[in-house]
Amino acid sequence: MKKNKTGYRCSFCGKSDADAMMLVSGLEGHICETCVEQAQRIVQEELHGQVSKTKKASAFKFQQLRPKQIKEHLDKYVIGQDDAKKVLAVAVYNHYKRLSQPNTGDVEIEKSNILLVGRTGTGKTLLAKSISKLLNVPFAIVDATIFTEAGYVGEDVESILSRLLQACDYDVEAAERGIVYIDEIDKIARKQDNPSITRDVSGEGVQQALLKMLEGADVNVPPQGGRKHPEQKLVKINTEKILFICGGAFDGIEKLIARRVNTQVIGYSNEAKDKVDREQLLQYINHQDLKSFGLIPELIGRMPVLTYLEPLDLEAMKSILVAPQNALIKQYQKLFELEGIALKFTDDAVEYIAQKALDYNLGARGLRSLCESIMNDAMYELPSDETIKSFTLDKAYCEFHLSKQKLQKFQVAA
Ligand code: ADP
Repeated sequence: MKKNKTGYRCSFCGKSDADAMMLVSGLEGHICETCVEQAQRIVQEELHGQVSKTKKASAFKFQQLRPKQIKEHLDKYVIGQDDAKKVLAVAVYNHYKRLSQPNTGDVEIEKSNILLVGRTGTGKTLLAKSISKLLNVPFAIVDATIFTEAGYVGEDVESILSRLLQACDYDVEAAERGIVYIDEIDKIARKQDNPSITRDVSGEGVQQALLKMLEGADVNVPPQGGRKHPEQKLVKINTEKILFICGGAFDGIEKLIARRVNTQVIGYSNEAKDKVDREQLLQYINHQDLKSFGLIPELIGRMPVLTYLEPLDLEAMKSILVAPQNALIKQYQKLFELEGIALKFTDDAVEYIAQKALDYNLGARGLRSLCESIMNDAMYELPSDETIKSFTLDKAYCEFHLSKQKLQKFQVAA
C-alpha cells in the first residue's frame, strides 16, 4: 500500500494516488478503495446468482386454483370486499391459465393487470399478499411515490423488480411468475395544474416509465435496487408473466364519479337517477374517471381489470378484530396462551376498539396500534404473575388504557 504521492494509479479506474484514499499494490498493478468495493459487490452478486440457480424450482411450487377456491381462501383472511375478491379471483385465475397455455400462435390471451381503488386500510395490500401466498409465487410490495423519471433523484422504476428478485432469493425463473403490488399508484397521477414547461418528473414521467414493464418486456434490473449505474451488473427479467396489481386511494375521485354519473342521467327519468347510491360512489368507478383523475390513457389501458374496495363500517371493523384466520385478537390470545393465560375480550370491548378506529379515521390499520396501547400494561405485567390463569378485557379496561388514566381497572378471574 502506498500512502505518499508516488505517481501510481489505480489499474482499474485510473485514479491517481493523490485522488484515492488508498492504493493497494499487487505484483503488476494497483487498486483503489472504490474499485475494491465495486469488485467485492460483483463477486457477491455473482455468487448470489449461482447459489439461487442451484436451488431453483424448489422454493416456489406454483398452485393453480379455480376462482371459487381463490375467493374461499381470501374469505379466511379478508373481511367483506366481495366484489373485489371475485374480480381478483377471476383475473388471477385467467392470468395463470394464460401462462399455462402453450403458445399456439392463434388467439393470444392478453395480460390483465389489476387496479384496486379504495381508501387506505381497507385491505388492498392484504388481498394482493393473500393471493400470492395462496398461489405460492414470489411477491413484492413497492410504493409508487419513491419513483422518479430516470435521471432524477429517487429510484428507477426497474427497482420494482429488484424487490421481487430479493423476495425470491434471486430466483429469476420464479420472479418471472411473481406478483408485484404497486401501492399509491394515484400519487403519480399527472398534476392537473402542472404548467407544461416544467417537467412532472414524479408524475407523468413515471407513468410513462411503467408502461413497458406492465405490458411485458425484457427489463434490465439492478439486483440491489436503487439507481442504475454504468458499472453495475444487471439481471434481465421478462415481465410478460408477472402480474401487476396496483392500488390507490384516489382521494377525491368520488367527485369525478358523481359528476360523470350526474351528467349521464340527465335526460333520463328520475328513477334512474335515484338508483345511484350516493354513499358508495366508488362502485361506479370506470376507466374514464381514472383519466380525469390524471392517469394517462396508456397506463389505464395496461390495467384492464378495475375494481373497488368498500369503506369499512363498524361491523366490518369488529369482524376484522376477531374473525380472520390470524385476527388481531387471536394473535394476542395465542401470545397469552404461551404464558398459560386464557385471554378474553368482551363484546363491548371489541365494539369499543372498532369504534375508536373509525372515530380516529384510522382504517383497519389503526386497530393494531389501538390494541397495542390497550394491551401493553397487561403484556408487561402478566408474565411476571404466575397466579393469573385467565384475563378478561372489557370496555372499561380499554377506555381506561386509551385515556391513559392511572387507575388499575381490569378484571382478573382466576
Ligand atoms: P391498504 O388498503 O391501505 O393497502 P392494507 O391491506 O395494508 O390496507 O390493510 C392494513 C391492515 O388492516 C391489514 O394488514 C389488515 O390487518 C387490516 N385490514 C384492512 N382491511 C381488512 C379487511 N377487509 N379484512 C381484514 N383485515 C383488514
